[in-house]
Amino acid sequence: PAGQGDVPDAVWDRIKDHPCFSEEAHHYFARMHVAVAPACNIQCNYCNRKYDCANESRPGVTSERLTPEQAARKVLAVAARIPQLSVLGIAGPGDALFDWRRTFETFRLVGEKLPDLKFCVSTNGLALPDHVDELARHNIDHVTITINAIDPEIAAGIYPWIYFKGKRHTGIEAARILLDRQMEGLERLTAKGVLVKVNSVLIPGLNDAHLVAVNQAIKARGAFLHNVMPLISDPAHGTRFGLDGVRGPTPAEVKAVQDSLGGGAHLMRHCRQCRADAVGMLGEDLSAEFTLDKLPEAPV
Ligand code: SF4
Ligand code: SF4
Repeated sequence: PAGQGDVPDAVWDRIKDHPCFSEEAHHYFARMHVAVAPACNIQCNYCNRKYDCANESRPGVTSERLTPEQAARKVLAVAARIPQLSVLGIAGPGDALFDWRRTFETFRLVGEKLPDLKFCVSTNGLALPDHVDELARHNIDHVTITINAIDPEIAAGIYPWIYFKGKRHTGIEAARILLDRQMEGLERLTAKGVLVKVNSVLIPGLNDAHLVAVNQAIKARGAFLHNVMPLISDPAHGTRFGLDGVRGPTPAEVKAVQDSLGGGAHLMRHCRQCRADAVGMLGEDLSAEFTLDKLPEAPV
């Protein structure tokens, strides 16, 4: 089918109805995100939590932070209005697995009422190895891990610190822990048959030449897709933590890196468009119609 790229047939069968993967499906199915994960356990130099983790760094409207109960009410209200709703993503605006109780409670509440809805989770990977079993228990369609480097020296220029097991780590040590945990999480998820895609933020001068090595490492561990997203330079927010003067890549630079990874990248263009409270078909955003004040009090 059109848009299959380098995805193996068996994997394609599992994702072809997913609006974020199939050009075709995105005309017929809708997805939504709920912003139940405000906190993050690492700092990325490019972060802007107005959008979902790592997915977008344009300035924009701050999304509502929802409790799992509020999120479930919102999902039910949206599902009642948009019958094509097929996917619920939890991807931020912080890390979906740092405050994992909120994420899994949301899936539990929603899953009770809408057993056919598929879930997806996006994470920086630091907490991932602790939650592989729980993720596999839910109706998880796939997990996205943002992996920007496999070399701690390069990663140290992207992540100033991490918070791990009650302690803050910085520099190369922080980078080593994070990269080890990302690889461990990836391996264990794919071993369980969970589909894992990897997002990488292309940061000119930092990891552009390195993404080929990242691609090899993640494919060797079973990731089914590698999505390269451009760093979006934002004078108001993007330089806050140490990417001073770093510009976003040009479309030609993004394409050159995507091409060097062997195709398939066109499948993934949609994912980074997602706001933390995105609602609707891809390319449309109905989130303003489903703000908290407009939801019914009790579950529908
Ligand atoms: Fe921001 Fe995501 Fe990085 Fe956390 S992992 S600092 S939410 S971009
Ligand atoms: Fe999941 Fe990404 Fe699609 Fe959102 S845009 S539903 S995170 S695949």
